Amino acid sequence: MSPQHRPLQPDTLAAQGIGEPALPYRDVVPPIHLATTFERAPDGSLPGGRLYSRDASPAYDAAETLLRELEQGEAAALFASGMAAASAVLLALRPGARIVAPHDMYWSLRKWLIEFAANWQIALDFYAGEDELAARLQQPADLVWVETPANPTWEITDIARAATLAHAAGARLVVDSTVSTPVFSRPLTLGADIVMHSATKYLNGHSDVVAGVLVTRAADDFWARIRAARAAGGAVLGPFEAWLLNRGLRTLFARVRLAAESALRIARHFEHHPGVARVLYPGLASHPGHEIAARQMQGGFSAMLSLRVAGGEAAAREVAARVRLFKRATSLGSVESLIEHRAPVEGPGTRCPADLLRLSVGIEDAQDLIDDLEQALAGAA
Ligand code: PLP
Repeated sequence: MSPQHRPLQPDTLAAQGIGEPALPYRDVVPPIHLATTFERAPDGSLPGGRLYSRDASPAYDAAETLLRELEQGEAAALFASGMAAASAVLLALRPGARIVAPHDMYWSLRKWLIEFAANWQIALDFYAGEDELAARLQQPADLVWVETPANPTWEITDIARAATLAHAAGARLVVDSTVSTPVFSRPLTLGADIVMHSATKYLNGHSDVVAGVLVTRAADDFWARIRAARAAGGAVLGPFEAWLLNRGLRTLFARVRLAAESALRIARHFEHHPGVARVLYPGLASHPGHEIAARQMQGGFSAMLSLRVAGGEAAAREVAARVRLFKRATSLGSVESLIEHRAPVEGPGTRCPADLLRLSVGIEDAQDLIDDLEQALAGAA
């Protein structure tokens, strides 16, 4: 392929925010569009192509276009949070629909799925691992949910296999790819129908915006119902948040690659550490999902890992109390590293081991992060 015919790489598209200067001043960063309403022509038409910002705000165009390109989908929609994005998918289902979802997934979404299914006459079955997924899909279904790597133990699901199973059962496959990001995987190219992100995490990357996004492989009827759920349900993102998200997206590839390199280094460092019973990270050959992850994630294994502390629950609590550099805070995907003793946050019914510390690795010096965990583990011993 001659250099002028080589398509632009995703890193380039992200760094330039697609790269179309805004008219009329040819701004190299998109302006903030605050208008909620748009003028009609005398004949009643809408020359600007917009009616009202709850339906489709120009403030979303840059991020939606970029994310559609990065995920290689047909259309994208921003939401007021990752949960609002997931809820729009649920609201697009018909009464009596059947969902098959993983036991291990983002805790609050799992809890919401259970409540939603009970209140809206939706059948809901859970699976742990792909064999159970195949068994659940012996019967017809409407929606299969996959989260890979899955919070907080980072189980890996084979997206291509899940897509084949879902489609054979008549279901759409939705993949929560928040942790993997478009830097490492493109679920739509592996057969998923919709990819979802909590844009609060890596896409924005600075712990200062709550946002969500869905990207679809086909702008079909189901997508039209999702768009209607956003416009009518009203879970829309503010223009300033959309602008901050655009700004975060420009450094996505640099941030996420650096953080994932550090995560791998930290995982390797603590894999055989006496204070650590187990490191959960798909980049380690010891992780049960490593082979699939190596196949479906290109260039890295995410910047999330968990440590199971050798001394058990009390020691895990103590390590979290002793860190000086990691911030004790929930959430993930930002430039600063976070640590969380996860099970108490999830509360009763959690499947998270009591000795598990969840680490969101940021872009600080990796050795500084290792030294911080070393001193915290030494103090807790
Ligand atoms: N999916 C995953 C994997 C998450 O970690 C989170 C939040 O932590 C969400 C979805 C929900 O996103 P939000 O907090 O933006 O609503």
